[in-house]
Order: sequence, then structure tokens, then C-alpha cells
Amino acid sequence: MPYWHFIVCIYFYIQYNISIQWLFSLAKLYPLKILSFKKQGLYCEPGKFFIDPWQVTDKAVITHAHADHARGGMGQYLCHNVSAPLLRARLSADIKVQGIHYNESVSINGVKLSFHPAGHILGSAQVRLEYKGYVVVISGDYKTEDDGITPPFEPLKCNEFITESTFGLPIYRWKPQSAISNEILSWIQHNQSRGKTSVLTGYSLGKAQRLMKLLEGTGKLYVHSSIARINEALQGSGIRLPGYSVYEHGMNTKELSGQIIIIPPAALSAEFIKKIPGVALGVCSGWMQIRGNRRWQAADAGFAISDHADWDGLLWAVKQSGAEKIMVTHGQTEVFARYLNENGYNASAIKTRFDEEEGD
Ligand SMILES: [Zn+2]
Ligand SMILES: [Zn+2]
Repeated sequence: MPYWHFIVCIYFYIQYNISIQWLFSLAKLYPLKILSFKKQGLYCEPGKFFIDPWQVTDKAVITHAHADHARGGMGQYLCHNVSAPLLRARLSADIKVQGIHYNESVSINGVKLSFHPAGHILGSAQVRLEYKGYVVVISGDYKTEDDGITPPFEPLKCNEFITESTFGLPIYRWKPQSAISNEILSWIQHNQSRGKTSVLTGYSLGKAQRLMKLLEGTGKLYVHSSIARINEALQGSGIRLPGYSVYEHGMNTKELSGQIIIIPPAALSAEFIKKIPGVALGVCSGWMQIRGNRRWQAADAGFAISDHADWDGLLWAVKQSGAEKIMVTHGQTEVFARYLNENGYNASAIKTRFDEEEGD
């Protein structure tokens, strides 16, 4: 209840002797407000903490360790326990970070907070907030298909659902993971039969480990040093990853012939490609769904494999939430919110500073 309403109640009670209970019952007209949007980011009013803030704050609850969600300089961090060493590796070894397990709850200023699998990348979590019986779920980034390495997305019932919409257009419909992995595997076999080295690009946290898992047992796997750093942090949390070697610039190229190298898109350059003779380049990104993506013309193959939900996945997650209020962040916010409103939901687009990552 706003402060001024309280003052008005007292005034009417004194002046006109109107039942104070009746006046206070008017307060029910004000819906509980758990989340608000401040210049620093998504803010939990009663809990007094931010979720994935983009400016420095005292308390930051982090959905996952991607750079657009986990930024440096916060007083304290709270995240899933697999994300904690990733934050230390990416931000600073000195940060104050507390990690908790999925479904474990903590109380912050009377708000019950728990993390639940988002299926996006290892350590990614949806944030569930409960206050006076009202439940808000912030999805963070998520995907609804089980990728075989990340704990799968868990649908949660709530009053308010804050969903991402990176691929919130009906043109984005992913093939099942088994079909995509068959495409990647036959492309690699084709390269191997011609003695070519297969280079696959994937974001160093998330896509890279997913590709490693898909390619387990296919041949010797090399990963770029930035991926190896992430792998070490994950292995420190007890995550089992397939065996790999670290690709170093200037290494004996004969050794690489016919093998597989995974590198992040940021490490890809003409110079890199020149250094590996007989290279075949495969780009792994949801954006490959759009033909003629000019940035990737140098690629020999494109695989539309994404760690975000596609159109059907987003709609499914929204429906599962059963929420009376939907807020849309990331990417196609306006289009997706409009579609939801036209189809019986109460949705609004929210401006945030999350990127359409995927290394693009
Ligand atoms: Zn992400
Ligand atoms: Zn994101």
C-alpha cells in the first residue's frame, strides 16, 4: 500500500469517522508489487536486491554467468552453485559470491527466493520469488529442449512470468537436437574422409560444452584456451565433461589434420583460418536459421543450434507458467508481447540491457 493511502485513511477516519477497516480494505486495490524496473535493472522491492543488474548494486541475484547477465563490481552475488566459480573466473577471484542448489530456498527480507533449472547453459537458473503468497518467476535465458548436458528447463506456476524472447518470431523453429547432431556428425565425417580439420564455432560458455557432449567419441577434440578456462571452472564444480586437448596458436598443424576444434566466434579471424590448412568451418548458432547471414559467408556449413527457446518453446513456457501477467525481455520483445496480447495473455514488453548473445 502506498504511503499516501495510509495518511488518507487516518485523515478520513478522524474527520468523518469512516470505518478504518473499510478504508484499509481499499488497499487491496493495489496489487502486490514485487518487481520494478530501475535504471540499474530488475529490482525486487521487498527483498531489496537486483536480478542481473547492469549497473553496480549492493546485492545482485544472477541467473547465469553470461556477460550480459553477470557484470562486475557488485557488492554481493547470489547464484546457482555451478555459476559461482564461473563468476569468479570471469569477473574476479575476489568477488563475494554465494552459490545455492536448485530448489534450495533462502529468505531475503521476507522474500523466499529459489533457483530452478532454465536449461540454457550449465549453472543457468530461473529465479522464483515468493512474497505474501504472490509468486514471480524470472526466466533469465532459457531453452525448453533437453540438450543432454544442462539440467532441463523446469516449468513453474506463478502469478507473473518474466520471459526472454531472443528468438521470439515464428520463423525460429529449431530441429530436434538429434537431427542437428546427425547433421554435424555427418559433416565432420565428410571432412575427415577428405583429411580436413573441422572447426566449429560456439560461445565459450554453454554452446562449447554442448558441442563437446554431442561430439564425444567422434575424434580427438580440441578447444580454444578461453573454452578450456570455462571447462576448468565447471569441472571444479563436479561437472563431468568429455576429454579434450587445448588448441594453442602455432601448434603443429599436422597434428590437427582430420580432428575437431571448437572455438568461440570472437576468436575466429581470417588469420586463424589461414593457420590451419584444409580447414572446414561450421558455425553453430540460432541465427543460422536465417539464410544469407552475411557475417558468416566464410563458413562452409551453418547449424541452427541454439541455447535459447524457439518460438514454440517460448509459447509453451508461457502457457506452462499459468501466469496472469507476462513481461517480455531480450530480443523480439514488442512482437512477442503483441502476439501474446492477441492470444489471451496480459503481456508487456520491458526494455532491458541484455544482449542477443550467442556470440553474435
Ligand atoms: Zn545467456
Ligand atoms: Zn541473455
